[in-house]
Amino acid sequence: MSDRRFGFRTRALHAGTPPDGETGARALPLHLSTAFVFDSTEHAAELFALRTYGNIYTRIGNPTVAAFEEKLASLEGGLGALATASGLAAQLITILSVAQQGDHLVASANLYGGTVTQFSVTLQRMGIETTFVAPGDLDAVRAALRENTRALFVETIGNPNGNVADIAALAALAHEAGVPLVVDNTFATPYLCRPIEHGADIVVHSATKFIGGHGTVMGGAIVESGLFPWGAGRHPLLSTPSPGYHGLNFAETFGEYAFLQRARVEVLRDVGASISPMNAWLLVQGLETLAMRMPQHVENARAVAAFLRGRSEVAWVSYADLPDSPDHSLAERYLPLGAGAVFTFGLHGGRDAGRAFIEALELWSHLANVGDAKSLVIHPASTTHQQLTDEQLRAGGVLPEMVRLSVGLEDVDDLIWDLERGLAAAVAVAPALSDARA
Ligand SMILES: *Cc1c(COP(=O)(O)O)cnc(C)c1O
Repeated sequence: MSDRRFGFRTRALHAGTPPDGETGARALPLHLSTAFVFDSTEHAAELFALRTYGNIYTRIGNPTVAAFEEKLASLEGGLGALATASGLAAQLITILSVAQQGDHLVASANLYGGTVTQFSVTLQRMGIETTFVAPGDLDAVRAALRENTRALFVETIGNPNGNVADIAALAALAHEAGVPLVVDNTFATPYLCRPIEHGADIVVHSATKFIGGHGTVMGGAIVESGLFPWGAGRHPLLSTPSPGYHGLNFAETFGEYAFLQRARVEVLRDVGASISPMNAWLLVQGLETLAMRMPQHVENARAVAAFLRGRSEVAWVSYADLPDSPDHSLAERYLPLGAGAVFTFGLHGGRDAGRAFIEALELWSHLANVGDAKSLVIHPASTTHQQLTDEQLRAGGVLPEMVRLSVGLEDVDDLIWDLERGLAAAVAVAPALSDARA
């Protein structure tokens, strides 16, 4: 291989997926094999002892899954990656690779609702406590970091209210405290932001969203920078002998690969939330066109946001791409190609107007997902964030009248035509709106 540093689009098409050496197949072969034959009993023993790399059993590794991992790691600028069954599996495996009972996490209060519940209920029951803080309040973040804190967790673009994380400042705080910064980069994708370039140590994804890109695949991934000092003493799960691997010390044995190795051979092995090779294969197709799709998602989102901003029925639009957004300067720094295609707005008529609006739409599908090629709409307070208490809703910036859009790849004039119909229906149920209009 030449030592040329290829561009993002070239790596999206070529990294991890060269022509198949055995058959010449140009597309990535799909290996739907659960297990792989050993060369000899000695080879088998070496593989099981982690003294040689190779395929054993698809729960912990598979050649098609490995191609997806290598492609995504290349696009994020990481050392390597681990694919999982879903985004929530990627988060769980990340946390369980660094934390155990009695440990502590600091997390942004503006997170995907399922993440808040995973941390505040399921991890809490496992004895891992989380302190949620406003991610923009760096003093609060610093104050929340403790002796037993094992990670700081934020989203590049917070769900649902679109706040942008100051990744470099948060990384500096995390590193002062000896903990890794974990960034959920689902809404940005590596096309719009590469958190590792700004100091993040671990990137997690719900590949279910823009990476798959068509609303057809569940998947997740963990990418690591390879730069975090796992052996420095703050992470005993990685730097002391593990009973889960006959006394292996991951930091001593694997150096910069310690985290990814433990995540794979202990935590993924034991949790079992592995991705199907079929899904990894589909996600490779998604990555190949990510750099074509994201600019169009952003362009359509900008046009839709500008349209909504100009309408008197609309009380507010929260999209960091807008010049008067409080997060606009962070968006310019971390998301120079656009602040994604998921954002929220509120109608003057509150909850009833919101409901009438959503029900009148024809092209925008009312469902719980984002990052589809098709445009999507939802009312977070009654759906994705329903399990949250009022206090958690407020802390996460989820207002009762909030409508969330995931702008797709349709002709934007058609999307706006549909939104006009929704606004007309909202006015019909909330007559106060027509006063606001006058
Ligand atoms: C959807 C989502 C998740 C969870 O991912 P799944 O693939 O549904 O498990 C996590 N974080 C964000 C930001 C998401 O949008």
